[in-house]
Amino acid sequence: MNNALWLPCTQMQALENNPPLHLVKAQGNQLYDQDGNAYYDMISSWWVNLHGHCHPFINAKIKQQLDTLEHTLIASVTHPPILTLAEKLVAITPTSLTKAFFADSGSGAVEVALKMSLQYWQQSGQTQKTKFISLEHGYHGETVGSLAVTDIPLFSEQYKDLIVSQIRIPSPAHIFSPDDIPAQLHEQKSLDALERILAEKSRDICAIILEPLVQGAAGMAMYSANYLLGIAKLAHHYHIHVIYDEIAVGFGRTGTMFAVEQMLALADADKQDDYCPDFICLSKGLTAGYLPMSCVMTTDDVYQAFYDDKVEKGFLHSHSFTGNPLACSAALASLELFERDNVLLHNQSLIQAMAHGLQQLADANLPIKFVRQTGMIAAFTLDFSQNLGKAFAQLCLDQGVMIRPIGNHVYLIPPYCTTPAELGHIFGVLNRCLQKLYDDIPQIPQGSSQAIDLP
Ligand SMILES: *Cc1c(COP(=O)(O)O)cnc(C)c1O
Repeated sequence: MNNALWLPCTQMQALENNPPLHLVKAQGNQLYDQDGNAYYDMISSWWVNLHGHCHPFINAKIKQQLDTLEHTLIASVTHPPILTLAEKLVAITPTSLTKAFFADSGSGAVEVALKMSLQYWQQSGQTQKTKFISLEHGYHGETVGSLAVTDIPLFSEQYKDLIVSQIRIPSPAHIFSPDDIPAQLHEQKSLDALERILAEKSRDICAIILEPLVQGAAGMAMYSANYLLGIAKLAHHYHIHVIYDEIAVGFGRTGTMFAVEQMLALADADKQDDYCPDFICLSKGLTAGYLPMSCVMTTDDVYQAFYDDKVEKGFLHSHSFTGNPLACSAALASLELFERDNVLLHNQSLIQAMAHGLQQLADANLPIKFVRQTGMIAAFTLDFSQNLGKAFAQLCLDQGVMIRPIGNHVYLIPPYCTTPAELGHIFGVLNRCLQKLYDDIPQIPQGSSQAIDLP
């Protein structure tokens, strides 16, 4: 290990006994180390990759852009790829979302949405609105503003003096429900908690922010679109904004292009605008996992509150690399692939293959629980009282499958270029490694590990 490098989300000392994987090349869903070993990238490189690594079509589009215009600022400036991308994003998101504001990372997009919501209320005569509601176990990034709405103490405890405390409601996700409570009832309890808070102090609240359908960093904790509809109704009734953080789930991960579509599908036709979130944060898959970029989609109503002859009433948030043309060209190429290859339809066969693989695991009498799936995200939880996620991941890695469990929560987020046959093979590896894990350490009692772990 090179002495100059300090890695994120890593205790460097742990690398002494467990050196980092040194990856030198990637193609499709495979990563290659310096010895030529291949690994299936079953976490899509931290949930960012969509169509596979070094995709010839995306690579060609970026190279073309590289020789044309590599970067320019976008304050009072535009360029062709960003204009086209903004139009495309408006076209593929719900009709109420008419504006695209760009930033450079997922956390950056969350900061933008929080600031925009706060400033909107300030400029709309509701200056007492300053608080945000988020979900327990939610993750929205690790910059100081986004940490205020992230509920992962491992990331925030050390910095509590920097962070403005906000309001939390219980997570609707089934993995956090006491075992005997049905999922629907558990979700209703979270909605009831929100209603109690809103009834008392909605006039102080700017917005609720949440990860729709899947709380990723919590360990792929899933809940229903029906809960999202409940949130939409309450937010509309009590006049607060809704911010969807689709940074991880956008661009097909939940089966639809965006998770919001599954909520709106449950709403009456004449309520679509009322229930549409006011902000949707996008990143990760936005550039198909190629380059850092993010975007916040918002409404005309929000936009108009900033449209003024005073500069300070504008939304001034800026990053040096906002709207980078190379990143925009990667995003445009990715959206072209979605259309050209009918990716969402094609993914249905992968979704079925994963459902089949999960069913086999569930039927195999293995020490797992909470077997769950939302579209292209499959997960289960190791039923041990100790954190065995890392040991399990190592067994899988030795068999050429890279996963990265969060504590005992094991998940697969495959690139969309993976085939059903490959998924069959990969679930076979999981099955055999689970068996081995169980055989090797039979003395560890089953149960819920409380160990915290990094996503
Ligand atoms: C990854 C992620 C973020 C943060 O994005 P970064 O690009 O890592 O800053 C925020 N919210 C969710 C739901 C994420 O998965």
